[in-house]
Amino acid sequence: MISLDKSKNYEIKMDELIRIMKNSGFLTSNRIEWAIRKNPRHEFVPKSLQDSAYKDIPLSLMKKQTISQPSVVSRMTELLNVKKGQKILEVGSGSGWQSAILSFLIGHGKIFSIDRHPELVKFAKKNLDKLGVQNVNVILGDGSLGLSKEAPFDRIIITAACKKVPPPLFEQLSMEGLLIAPVGEYPQSLILFKKTSQGIKEIENQPGYVFVPLLGKFGHQLS
Ligand code: SAM
Repeated sequence: MISLDKSKNYEIKMDELIRIMKNSGFLTSNRIEWAIRKNPRHEFVPKSLQDSAYKDIPLSLMKKQTISQPSVVSRMTELLNVKKGQKILEVGSGSGWQSAILSFLIGHGKIFSIDRHPELVKFAKKNLDKLGVQNVNVILGDGSLGLSKEAPFDRIIITAACKKVPPPLFEQLSMEGLLIAPVGEYPQSLILFKKTSQGIKEIENQPGYVFVPLLGKFGHQLS
């Protein structure tokens, strides 16, 4: 097999991935297609997995964590409906790929992305630096607590499975803001919530997703 590094031929594989995601209905927005194309996924996976980077599957990272399936990243990004200039909180930086895609869509906006593993914080930072992404701040911590000093956030994305959305994250969401999270035991439902003057409203609920668990104070407990 030709190595992506040597051949620089990832565009062909990217075209095929985009075609698959469009055919399955997980990618419908030209703007999001553009942001995905601007962030080649092979730059966000370990070298040994670069040849699989354009398969529509999750791939292993260090510490038994994963970079999510491209279709799922596309679906979550579409549902989150981000706008230029917004402030976003991501819980679960992993490889940094989801942040990188969002960063292209928010222009001069700002993303704060938290992971609980120092190895992944370092990995995500390195990947974002390689691509020259400057509006993402990757932070080590327990994302189930949110990041109160930077709140409120226009959008919050949780990229790990929670039994229920950690209460601090709803508190740190702006009025009219959107929060997306995989919620439940196994499998999870992808739920989009909106904060309104009448409270938190569920505005979309799609069953059948599987994520690694959100750990931490308001997440699953380590056994
Ligand atoms: N968004 C990532 C990407 O683009 O590669 C994929 C995220 S991976 C599916 C889930 C991540 O959530 C893991 O990196 C894991 O370490 C992190 N995580 C789990 N519980 C966490 C917590 N309480 N705080 C911060 N990160 C957490």
